[in-house]
Amino acid sequence: MAFPAQRPRRLRQNEALRGLVRENHLSAGRFILPLFAVPGSNIRQEISALSGNYHLSLDCLVEEALAARDLGIPAVLLFGVPEAKDEQASGAYAPYGIVQEAVRALKKMVPDLIVITDVCGCEYTANGHCGFIKNGYLDNDSSLDLIAQIALSHAEAGSDMVAPACMLDGQIQAIRRLLDTNSFQNLPIMAYSAKFASKLYDPFFKEGTQSTLAFGDKRTHQMDFSNSDEAMREIALDIDEGADIVMVKPALFCLDIVSRAKREFHMPLAAYNVSGEYAMIDAAARLGRIDRDAIMMEALTAIRRAGADLIITYFAKRAAELLEGRASRSAHAELLHV
Ligand SMILES: [Zn+2]
Repeated sequence: MAFPAQRPRRLRQNEALRGLVRENHLSAGRFILPLFAVPGSNIRQEISALSGNYHLSLDCLVEEALAARDLGIPAVLLFGVPEAKDEQASGAYAPYGIVQEAVRALKKMVPDLIVITDVCGCEYTANGHCGFIKNGYLDNDSSLDLIAQIALSHAEAGSDMVAPACMLDGQIQAIRRLLDTNSFQNLPIMAYSAKFASKLYDPFFKEGTQSTLAFGDKRTHQMDFSNSDEAMREIALDIDEGADIVMVKPALFCLDIVSRAKREFHMPLAAYNVSGEYAMIDAAARLGRIDRDAIMMEALTAIRRAGADLIITYFAKRAAELLEGRASRSAHAELLHV
């Protein structure tokens, strides 16, 4: 055969050809935007470590949700920052807690937006832990009751989907049972199935939910980031227990896990592009080292290429603006090569 019969560059000659054979496409319809609800009114306070993301009182939360929906983003992932925290995390399942009220406001004002609620105790416990601590250890089974109660309270407020985040053993089953016995058989669960103990969450806890740990760490429940087989076991357990969507977190540091999970389980798969991943790109761009929009699109595409169906990302609105052509033409053209 004369060299070279195959010239891969033939299909890279111009954008029309590159577009014709492009394998993966981003779309706003794959994004889930995290939102942070706070008590009060007329509050729209930027979270400094997550520029472009805000602490929002319910009136402003509704505005932000409308803007996201208008950009084609189908879903938000809701977190609450309560006024007070206690040992029992009682604010987490209070009928009129911050998340429950936020769900009601969103479902009333933006009914076609999917409202997913993060289910965990750590935003509501005084010590910042995800459940109940006994002898310095996150007690699994008593914390399961708490987690299931939180999920039920979200369901009763009108949440479209609950997302248990704390990696307790048996948490999906506990939630599924309580939901089912309360007539929420059709409420889906998005499980944080393979959630690694990562310092990449620090900006989220320090500034996003203001729930830095008073002591200890989360390595007795979140996964060791050295492990991959274990992630598959965790995902398999969650599927057995009734998870409808499984998640890998973080995303960019775990693209191998995302890829393997998609190949092994063929389940709807979400990946959480976490606060530290966002902050690194943002900070490097501020220093002039990288092009923020270009790297954002490359990062999000990499998560999609690895196999994620859904991407939870603080970049959702900016990326959707570019994809929808609402950003400036030059930036749009340059990024999308059109
Ligand atoms: Zn937690």
